[in-house]
Formats: sequence, structure tokens, C-alpha cells
Amino acid sequence: PPDVDQLGRSTWTLLHSITGAYPASPSPTLQSETSTFIRTFAKLYPCWVCADDFQAWMRRPGNAPRVSSRDEFGRWMCDAHNAVNEKLGKERFDCARWEERWRTGWRD
Ligand code: FAD
Repeated sequence: PPDVDQLGRSTWTLLHSITGAYPASPSPTLQSETSTFIRTFAKLYPCWVCADDFQAWMRRPGNAPRVSSRDEFGRWMCDAHNAVNEKLGKERFDCARWEERWRTGWRD
């Protein structure tokens, strides 16, 4: 199986990039598909401890995928990533800056 850190970096790149490309006003159909995608992703993620903990985190109150707009989804993904950062003893990311990091680019 791929290295857990390398898999993680690539996967977060994909997931945050998906939120950056997500519509500002998604249709109800896309919202429901996105929610299903995230739940299925969480089952299939090929690091089994990671997948189990991520699914458990999503089941906690307030942590279900929020997909009603790009900003909601981007912030939800940032919160999800911060939960993993916290578990691993890494620094929290400031979620007010998710879009700068993953969509519009950093401004100096
Ligand atoms: P990463 O955490 O991979 O982050 C990559 C880049 O994303 C950072 O450099 C930063 O610019 C940006 N970033 C950081 N935090 C945020 C945020 N909150 N929002 C937006 N952008 C951010 N590893 C384990 O060892 N155990 C686990 O249980 C585990 N569970 C995981 C569950 C999932 C769903 C995923 C996708 C990964 C998981 N990982 C787990 C991997 C772990 O999250 C890291 O990817 C890995 O440790 C490499 O970390 P990194 O420091 O290189 O940066």
C-alpha cells in the first residue's frame, strides 16, 4: 500500500481542490451526490485506521458533510482536515484562509 503520509498529502490536495472548484450555488442533485461521494470516499480510503476515525468524526454532531455552497464545503473540508491535524499533533490551519490556499492563491 502507498505510504500513509504521501497518500494523505495527495488526497488532501485532491479533496481541497474539489472544494475550490465546487459551485458557489450547487444544485440539490449535486449536493446530494457530493455528500454520497464524501461518505463513500470515507469508506474506501486505503488507510483503514484513517478511514475508521474519519467516519467516526463525521458521525459526531455537527460534523456531517456541509455541501450547500463552495464556502460551506471548503470550510467543512478544512474542519475535517483540522480534526486529523489535531489527532496527529499538527498545527491547526486557519479556515478563514482555505480559499486563498486552495482556490484563489496566496496574496503577499
Ligand atoms: P497534510 O496534512 O497532508 O496537508 C497538506 C497541506 O494542506 C499542508 O501543507 C497545508 O498547506 C494544507 N493544510 C493543512 N491543514 C489544512 C486544513 N485544515 N485545511 C486546508 N488546508 C490545510 N495520517 C495518519 O498518520 N493517521 C491518520 O489517522 C490519518 N487520517 C487521515 C484521514 C484522511 C481523510 C486523510 C485525507 C489523511 C489522513 N492522514 C492520516 C494523513 C495526514 O492527514 C497527512 O496527510 C500526513 O500526515 C502528511 O501531513 P503533512 O504535514 O505533509 O500535511
